[in-house]
Amino acid sequence: MFANRLLSFCTAFLCATLYGAQIAAPATSPPKNSSSSEAQRAKLVALQDDFIETIKANGFQPSLAAPTIVLDNPPSYGNYEDESNVLHIAVWAALSPEQQARFARLAGLLAEGKTGEETFEDGVHHWVFIHELSHWWQACQHKTSDNHYSVEYGANRIAAAYWRSKDPAFMGRTEKKMRTVIATMTQPVPEGKSPEKYFNENYEKLGPTPAYIWFQYSMVLKVQSEAPLPSLHQTLQQPTYP
Ligand SMILES: [Zn+2]
Repeated sequence: MFANRLLSFCTAFLCATLYGAQIAAPATSPPKNSSSSEAQRAKLVALQDDFIETIKANGFQPSLAAPTIVLDNPPSYGNYEDESNVLHIAVWAALSPEQQARFARLAGLLAEGKTGEETFEDGVHHWVFIHELSHWWQACQHKTSDNHYSVEYGANRIAAAYWRSKDPAFMGRTEKKMRTVIATMTQPVPEGKSPEKYFNENYEKLGPTPAYIWFQYSMVLKVQSEAPLPSLHQTLQQPTYP
């Protein structure tokens, strides 16, 4: 009887250990001017440049300048602000010891021989970063609607198509991770409700909860099961979906 209640969707231990960061990520700052944070920034700028060049190669012209990248520790590890054209992205050095330990536990769960920091790199500096840049592309196309599900699904659809074309092994790993993690959670949508409707009606409440991760991961798995899979060009053409 509790299966559909909002806060009962994780197996308790995994939920607390893997997703606690999503609930209360402290706003800490990375060390100023450290060479390692400059190296991180250089890698992110290179990935951002590639994303923008790929958009141009697909025949589109971005209407906004590239977003300013701010290395910090935002909620959910990444956040694009369209009013300021700033993309906040977490860096390992800015994470709390608890957050770093969660990535170490996630690495253990995935059992791919990666460290916590490498798991963070994959999940945040590759997946989340391109997802947030996809929100920037939506802003370029003036597709920032109140249909939160379409905005999030569209961003996941662009990010998945980008990674399928750039690094299929990474996309395969990401899909497998999401499948593994989501298997530890109980789906939060009440019986008889559509996930889209439920997500839109409860968007503000869901934001800081693990249920938000469930929605993001289930969207990506749905994107990856589209048949036929959309091309990157198609996803850029229709940046919110459906
Ligand atoms: Zn998003």
